[in-house]
Amino acid sequence: MASEEPCHYDVLQNDKYGRYLVANKDLESGELIFKDAPIAVGPKPDTPPLCLGCYVPVENSVCSRCGWPVCSPECEGAAAHAAECEVFAEAKVRFQPVDDWTAAAPQLDCITPLRVLLAKEKDPSRWDREVAPMEAHTQARQQRPTWAADQVNIADFLVDHCKLGTRFDKELVQRVCGILEVNSVEVPSRGGFSVRALYPRLAITAHSCVPNIVHTILQNDYQVLVRAAVPIKSGDTLHLCYTHALSPTIVRRDYLMESKFFSCECPRCADPTELGTHLSTLKCQKCDNGVIMASNPLDDEAPWKCSEKKCEFKTSSAAMRKMLAVVQAEIDQLDVLEPGPQAIEQREATLNKYKSVFHPRHSLLLSIKHTLAQLYGRVEGYGIDELPDLVLERKAEFCRLVLSTLDVITPGDSRMRGMMLYELHAPLMFLARSEFSAGLITQEKLKERLQEPIKCLGEAARILAREDPQSPEGITGQIAQQSMEQLKASLDSL
Ligand SMILES: [Zn+2]
Ligand SMILES: [Zn+2]
Ligand SMILES: [Zn+2]
Ligand SMILES: [Zn+2]
Repeated sequence: MASEEPCHYDVLQNDKYGRYLVANKDLESGELIFKDAPIAVGPKPDTPPLCLGCYVPVENSVCSRCGWPVCSPECEGAAAHAAECEVFAEAKVRFQPVDDWTAAAPQLDCITPLRVLLAKEKDPSRWDREVAPMEAHTQARQQRPTWAADQVNIADFLVDHCKLGTRFDKELVQRVCGILEVNSVEVPSRGGFSVRALYPRLAITAHSCVPNIVHTILQNDYQVLVRAAVPIKSGDTLHLCYTHALSPTIVRRDYLMESKFFSCECPRCADPTELGTHLSTLKCQKCDNGVIMASNPLDDEAPWKCSEKKCEFKTSSAAMRKMLAVVQAEIDQLDVLEPGPQAIEQREATLNKYKSVFHPRHSLLLSIKHTLAQLYGRVEGYGIDELPDLVLERKAEFCRLVLSTLDVITPGDSRMRGMMLYELHAPLMFLARSEFSAGLITQEKLKERLQEPIKCLGEAARILAREDPQSPEGITGQIAQQSMEQLKASLDSL
């Protein structure tokens, strides 16, 4: 890494986090803290066959040299694929044809670990410095069924089948599998498909469900840029959120325990109201005004209770977990719908079905509202210029609801905030114009009302300008900038 690049952190160590990063100076919101280059990038476990050069899904298309999936002759020669291509070609181990090229192919599970192993061989001192100290949680992993699967599909496969026994032993392969499981992050590929990458500095950043940093992945070389999301004081711990920020506490904590092997006790997890956002709160079915929350979210044995003193409703976290899984499965079904009128109408039906069960800001309802905020104005029959005022108001309401939740759980400049601000500008602009053309407001008032969408666009453009210009967010940022300039110009000509 070039020395002129920012490095505004120190590495400390304690019992709670292991190694972790703290700011070594006062940081402004948006300030670049460090850049990190991946040790390796590659497929996640359980993905269908992907091009090993650019990670787009492929069908019946393999490398002419080694016989593993690639999409094109250019990708056969991709730098990412070069080292493993040689290994497979030499050992004459080809990808075994599959019946269904859209189904998960466990054969690919060996690729990312192999890339880490080959990176170790290529740069042993980087390995010693940056990868060897990483947590692999070998003992805990040995207790799980995935250990045996990794042993067969990855360790035995690479060492015996691909004849790498003189270069790597099986214990090391399993250690690499653990390092990847615990430390890698999901990243979007150029092909739009999700893959995983191992970043040494990002990996040791401590977790919090209320992060104070944000990261951006560059699509050309998968470098990650880490910035302050909010002003950070010198000496403060840098916190990244390893899980989906809008998930409810039970889901976040289960995920962190399952995949990262720790129990999160951050202030958000410890608070039954999730810092007042009510992302985990249900409505009580036994009384009028009560809401149901965990009496102690950090204790799985503690009951969930009604907030009304006189109400005796009680349930267990196990029952809650089951219920969330059922509704989540229903939402997952919605997510496979093609974007069209159905995608909107079925989501509205689901909102209706559960509005008496969940708090209006419950994570599951909020995730539907978040999607609807993006769909209104974007699908057939729901074009932005054909939406009735009521639906425009609904779009604005959902955007504001998501934004006010983000204020609390991911304060500062996040991608999601930038995207929601962009969504919010449209209904505000169309509502103001519709009221003006109906003669409900004066031209002066129209000018005043259009200040808010201009502000939304400006904020969105500012936040999203930090994203890769070729990513969907980066592109939205450029559109936001242009739309803001156009809107300003049209105001000046009024
Ligand atoms: Zn490709
Ligand atoms: Zn090849
Ligand atoms: Zn937490
Ligand atoms: Zn009650």
